[in-house]
Amino acid sequence: MSLTDLNLERYSRNILLPEIGGTGQEKLLNSKVLVVGAGGLGSPVIMYLAALGIGNITIVDHDRIELSNLQRQIIHNTEKIGVFKSDSAANFVNKLNPDVNVNSITEKLSIKNADKLINHNDIVVDGSDNFETRYLIADKAFKNSRTLVSAAITKYEGQISTWKRGDKYPCFRCLFPKKPINNLSGNCSSNGVIGSLGGFLGSLQATEVVKEILEIGESLAGYINIYDILNNNFRKIKVNVDQNCKFCSKYRGYGNK
Ligand SMILES: [Zn+2]
Repeated sequence: MSLTDLNLERYSRNILLPEIGGTGQEKLLNSKVLVVGAGGLGSPVIMYLAALGIGNITIVDHDRIELSNLQRQIIHNTEKIGVFKSDSAANFVNKLNPDVNVNSITEKLSIKNADKLINHNDIVVDGSDNFETRYLIADKAFKNSRTLVSAAITKYEGQISTWKRGDKYPCFRCLFPKKPINNLSGNCSSNGVIGSLGGFLGSLQATEVVKEILEIGESLAGYINIYDILNNNFRKIKVNVDQNCKFCSKYRGYGNK
């Protein structure tokens, strides 16, 4: 597929960047990204991925839009209260960018559908709001050798990381062998979250997706970035492979089979 005149105009500001260029833009238009969750993180992720020309986006979400979502889930609007988030998000993408082939799946990501959905895509974005789903996505992305860009937000704090399968990279369970007890283990409905925080972390996730697809810049794999926006603190923490990790050690050839 080569870029049309309309493509060249729509994506001109991407194409001007030497790391992207016309070849990179074609690659983005040919790529397939799975976004789990069309909520506080998923909204900005989906909006930016669609705007900048990710050609195939699959959105998985089984919730309906509630009034209390609209303070941060900016892909939806007041008229859409009661509508499935997957459909509302797909509708937004169709209006924003007709180049994008959007696939909305109104199902909960589960052990039954996760392998198929993850396998059919190049990259996975975790915008879910609970640890059960985060573990499922991380395990299945690892097993299917798909790069995962995950983030979490609560109150004024957000974290983002990229998880890749490879000997030098830790897995999600190397860092979180058990559900953490800290405040990031809670969700927005119990802890609250400042409405703009998802926009910040979601934009970063969309950017990391582009970087991974085009293999440009420095990957976040093996690191976790933690932002405290109330106090303007930012930490980049190295995450090491846990040789005793109950999950990934068996895939690395030195654990229990
Ligand atoms: Zn591990």
